[in-house]
Amino acid sequence: MKHLVLTLAIMMLPMSMMAQQRTKAKPAAKKVYVCTSGNSTKYHKTKDCRMLKTCNGEVKLVTQGQAHKMKRTQCGVCYKRTKRTKK
Ligand SMILES: [Zn+2]
Repeated sequence: MKHLVLTLAIMMLPMSMMAQQRTKAKPAAKKVYVCTSGNSTKYHKTKDCRMLKTCNGEVKLVTQGQAHKMKRTQCGVCYKRTKRTKK
């Protein structure tokens, strides 16, 4: 009986590995906007965020990963606009 369980486990293994690969294959290259001026610490979801309008530098389109490397955090204005804005 133990043998059957082992065979089953071996059969399941490559399947779970394949499933993992499939999720990994999708690149999470989400684009965000950053302001290149010195004291900016945020990245933005939309180009017309009102916080970006006050940017003295250049507005650059980068991936979210790049933004994280630049030590940027999500802008409280454009990332706040989720379903919770019910008034
Ligand atoms: Zn913003």
